[in-house]
Amino acid sequence: MKNIQAVKGMHDILPDQTPVWRYVEQVLREVSAGYGYQEIRFPLVEYTELFARGVGKVTDIVEKEMYTFADRDGDSLTLRPEGTAGCVRAGIENGLFYHQVQRFWYMGPIFRHERPQRGRYRQFHQFGAEAFGMQDPDIDVEMILMATRFWKRLGLSEQLVLQLNSLGTAETRAAYCEKLIDYFSDHLDQLDEDGRRRLHTNPLRILDSKNSDIKTLIVNAPKLIDMLDESSREHFSQVCKMLDEVGVSYEINPCLVRGLDYYSHTVFEWITDKLGAQGAVCAGGRFNDLVEQLGGHATPAIGFAMGLERLIDLLSQLKLLPEKFLQPHAYFVMVGDKVEQSGLIIAEKLRDALPALRLTTHCSGGGFKSQFKKADKSGAVVAIILGEQELNTGVAAIKYLREDRQQQTIPLEELADVLKEIVGEG
Ligand code: ATP
Ligand code: MG
Repeated sequence: MKNIQAVKGMHDILPDQTPVWRYVEQVLREVSAGYGYQEIRFPLVEYTELFARGVGKVTDIVEKEMYTFADRDGDSLTLRPEGTAGCVRAGIENGLFYHQVQRFWYMGPIFRHERPQRGRYRQFHQFGAEAFGMQDPDIDVEMILMATRFWKRLGLSEQLVLQLNSLGTAETRAAYCEKLIDYFSDHLDQLDEDGRRRLHTNPLRILDSKNSDIKTLIVNAPKLIDMLDESSREHFSQVCKMLDEVGVSYEINPCLVRGLDYYSHTVFEWITDKLGAQGAVCAGGRFNDLVEQLGGHATPAIGFAMGLERLIDLLSQLKLLPEKFLQPHAYFVMVGDKVEQSGLIIAEKLRDALPALRLTTHCSGGGFKSQFKKADKSGAVVAIILGEQELNTGVAAIKYLREDRQQQTIPLEELADVLKEIVGEG
């Protein structure tokens, strides 16, 4: 019989990798707290209608990437293919946007039925940040600064390039789309199949094509940024000016659009050339119309989301991940039936005394030699050794596994003091 495997494009994150994830998550938590962002958690599943209305019916996500199913009540539900729509839904439903400014972050799995390849999975993880109720360009800049600080903390400042563009207002985009349709219609023979399909439904998205054959065609297309109205232009130039002033470098990429319909005005993306075709690590922009579109009061908003798999892939490729994580401080070697029982009790007392202690007790018996091997392999700093003889005299031996240091014999009641020093060292 064939073993059951994980769903295609979905991955296990094994114990040797979870510390890396925790490290990255911790940095993201710390930095976003430093900017006053609060965590919000919303369901992994929403009514399908939310994404159709929020993300847009003719986007790739809604057209072909969603995991949609009927639940037992006959409702059409969808595993979240992005975070913003659910975040906005939660904010409206709980009255969080009414006369209030909010800064939120979220983190967790996202589902898209895409063709699996490096950096593209069917279950992946995003960290997202969203700010609501702020109209002016200063919050655009603050968000970019926050992401910039993530990169700095993770050692990635040199690796990621910030690209910026403005998508203006819905009216400007509508007028621009007509121009774009005219342009691509004039060059229909050069357009690929995907482009032709999108020509009349979502021409903007053609600009985001990953097909290198149509690069030149795209580069020569009319630019939205040349058509911006006065106030959009002013907003965008303010963003650029402030970024210049705080010393954040960026490139303006007039072809940068986002795959989701709700974006307007400032859009941005951090990309790297070190991840092959899937070089976008973090992307976002303003979505001033979305809250109203989903039934709330008109609320300006801006946000971004980053793919944690891509981020971690980049960090590990550049060897920027700390090597040692959460290895035990001590491994408790205990030999003999009577010893096992007393050992567990002693271990509990040690954990009571030192809440931060990482202590692995040896279970299921075995001789000294095999237990030592396991102690060494665990990466623990010390082995605590308890045999019948030690137990009878009320002592334990401490053997230093990582340094050349004399083994010590210590009264059981002093064990916690010795371990305290090791815990203190981290
Ligand atoms: P791409 O252009 O690579 O398809 P996207 O425009 O669909 O990305 P967004 O919807 O903006 O991406 O999502 C934000 C981030 O989430 C991306 O920049 C990327 O890092 C990550 N991401 C998107 N799709 C996937 C996926 N299928 N697997 C892993 N990470 C992904
Ligand atoms: Mg995509």
